[in-house]
Amino acid sequence: MRLVLATRNAHKVAELGALLPDHELVGLPEHLDTPEETGATFAENALIKARAAADALGVPVIADDSGVESAALAGAPGVRSARFAGPGAGDADNLRKLLRDAPAGDALAYVCALAFVDPRDGDAWTVEGRCTGTLDPHPRGANGFGYDPAFLPDDVVDPGRPGRTMAELEPEEKAAISHRGRAATALLRRLDRRG
Ligand code: IMP
Repeated sequence: MRLVLATRNAHKVAELGALLPDHELVGLPEHLDTPEETGATFAENALIKARAAADALGVPVIADDSGVESAALAGAPGVRSARFAGPGAGDADNLRKLLRDAPAGDALAYVCALAFVDPRDGDAWTVEGRCTGTLDPHPRGANGFGYDPAFLPDDVVDPGRPGRTMAELEPEEKAAISHRGRAATALLRRLDRRG
């Protein structure tokens, strides 16, 4: 199926496109404004983005929303992950704040919600993928982005190379255990059932 991914981030289109090889994924047309992410959950925000684009374009749309939850911070930064250290904060500022606010070994979870909206028949739903881990106080690794250098995944990707943070995994290794990879698998299953 041809699907619009409600993002202007070409990296996201490429990454999700690779996870959904049976579908043709395209980004958002330039002229469309993106709505404010006012939801309290990842699923709500994904649905807000998908619905806005689907209503404007009249074609099936998927949208994602993701972030990290810290147990010690009662689920924060959550939907505020991208702006945890303030409105203009970048990845390095946000990571520094998490390391300052949460203790070493804190239980973390990456969460990714994917929403699907087909305005032609009113079909609208979300799926979610999770990846759990712990906070490593010694950030390291050059792959990935965001909180990856301090996120030590619970899943053992390669028993011969233990103790690697998300930012030390190869992209394929990360995709196999990541919240986004798992959400994409759930989305695929649901799309297949839909026919
Ligand atoms: P969004 O889904 O583009 O809104 O991203 C939300 C924020 O969550 C990002 O800016 C990152 O801070 C964080 N995040 C989401 N997924 C990942 C990931 O796979 N690795 C590291 N950080 C992530």
